[in-house]
Amino acid sequence: MAREIHSQRPYILLTNDDGVGSPGLCAVKQSLDELADVAVVVPDHNWSACGHSKTMHKPLRVRSAKLADGSDAIATNGSPSDCVALVLLGLLKRRRPGRPHKPDLVVSGINPGANVGQDLTYSGTVAAAMEAVIGGVSAIAISLDAYEPTDFAFAAGLVAHLACQVLEAEPSQPLLLNVNVPALPEQEIKGVQITRLGRRLYRDALVERTDPRGKAYYWIGGDPPVGVPEDGTDIGALAQGYVSVTPLLLDLTDYARLPTLKDWELEFPRGLGE
Ligand code: MN
Repeated sequence: MAREIHSQRPYILLTNDDGVGSPGLCAVKQSLDELADVAVVVPDHNWSACGHSKTMHKPLRVRSAKLADGSDAIATNGSPSDCVALVLLGLLKRRRPGRPHKPDLVVSGINPGANVGQDLTYSGTVAAAMEAVIGGVSAIAISLDAYEPTDFAFAAGLVAHLACQVLEAEPSQPLLLNVNVPALPEQEIKGVQITRLGRRLYRDALVERTDPRGKAYYWIGGDPPVGVPEDGTDIGALAQGYVSVTPLLLDLTDYARLPTLKDWELEFPRGLGE
């Protein structure tokens, strides 16, 4: 409805967590251009694994930028979720008064590297999509299961297709889709599975080094994560050569444990503050 009031075409905000120079950004921008007015507001550097953050102790700056194809973008010094918050709070309307206040959809990606299982608690790509949903706007986070992908064409086409479906569905509550694409040639991708989150197995290791003054410093290093390829999960789908589409909620409540916790009868003892 809002779309019809404000514009002939839907209005999509595109962001990412990899920064304005990310190669996946241009591919998805060009794909979304075919169906929508696309505004690109992205961090000015790579924020991968920043999680969901809100910048509150320093000013947010924005500057005009160009993508590799010469199209306009806005780069900010904020996090991926800050980029979404800035737009939902009216940044682009100030810069172009005729523009609707809120986008019809937020797309975040294309991230190099899958975002599956517990990765979602680290992912800046997914955090940007979560920020959209908190602001009442549906969002799609999209990631490619390769750390240095070179071909974004299939994932870019897929996200445009999904964007159409979400916009046409006009969900009464904001919809959050986390999409992961196998790093395979298109003809080898078997299809799409609707999935739940799987279980990551991290192989992080503490790497200790010594600085020039003789003091120890640390990296969280180790090998890239693997995962349990259970059927029905995002990790299982990727392992079998399928795209995974996982609908997400922000409600982290452990519903199964509510009765147990209630049985604990957590009556606090009186006199704790004396
Ligand atoms: Mn990233």
